[in-house]
Amino acid sequence: MKRILIIYTGGTIGMVRTPNGYAPQRGYFRAALDAIPSLHMEGMPHWELFEMEPLLDSSNMTVAEWNKIAQLIAENYGRYDGFVVLHGTDTMAYTASALSFMLENLGKPVVLTGSQIPLCELRSDGRDNIITSILIAADERVHEVCLYFGGNLLRGNRATKYSADGLIAFVSPNYPALAEAGITIRYRKSALLAKPEGALRLQLLENVPIGVIKVFPGIQFELFESIMTEKLRGIVIETFGAGNIPGDGNALLPIIRRAFEGGTVLTVCSQCPQGAVSLGAYETSSALKQAGAVSGLDITTEAAVAKLYYLFSRGCDKETVKVEMERDLRGEMTV
Ligand code: ASP
Repeated sequence: MKRILIIYTGGTIGMVRTPNGYAPQRGYFRAALDAIPSLHMEGMPHWELFEMEPLLDSSNMTVAEWNKIAQLIAENYGRYDGFVVLHGTDTMAYTASALSFMLENLGKPVVLTGSQIPLCELRSDGRDNIITSILIAADERVHEVCLYFGGNLLRGNRATKYSADGLIAFVSPNYPALAEAGITIRYRKSALLAKPEGALRLQLLENVPIGVIKVFPGIQFELFESIMTEKLRGIVIETFGAGNIPGDGNALLPIIRRAFEGGTVLTVCSQCPQGAVSLGAYETSSALKQAGAVSGLDITTEAAVAKLYYLFSRGCDKETVKVEMERDLRGEMTV
């Protein structure tokens, strides 16, 4: 029988009502799982629960928690066939992206899931999300970090939270779903990553200073000069369309150039969820290219942030980070 480790980090799925709104509560979740009959039926893989301490609303997730989760998976890698990480939806796509980079040569499924409605409520979507995630975590076809939610299995570093209240809360705008769960779970074999050859290698992350800037009409780039210093190792800039910024770049160009000379790598992403950045396609993006910015192609902001953390934590110098940001490492971008 397959053995699955469920790592419960917090999030809506296990929250209870409190006078200040929903919040996680220690010791409650085990009983909540025991009350789901399907989790104890024949055909269900053997599962064990590990409750993290403290339980968090995922808005409070940090690099330290990513390290704890990745370490737990690495330490238990030989004992289990797959892992389910129960997590709040707000930053689930960031954690999924981070884990995908941290767990190099992952040969088993790591499935992140959660819910929009807590298990303590009548219409909770958590029950199906947990049951199906455990089944996916026991499937030998999956060798990657993925995110299951509302009937869709998505590559973790391609997913983004799309709805604050819908039960299909995540989308993967630039990569097909890895599987769809209807009456059966139908895997899209061609979309899944191949099984890696080498042994699992864990890369812990450091809390590298990283920034995200979203451009908007009328943005005064000069105001950002004080933060775009060598203190920031990486910046993700969310541009219009295919990588365009307002104006002719005159204001931004020297700022980026100075930041780059100081060691900061600037990665260009798009505010459009779908499609890719194409630096130099328009005059309005040429300045970014000339100043040494790299193209994030069709990567999500979540994955770009996680990738910057990963590359700097690996000890890469800025030139290597630039090269790697434009290379596909874990299926996070279409090159
Ligand atoms: N605020 C919650 C969290 O991210 C939302 C959720 O889980 O759906 O932990």
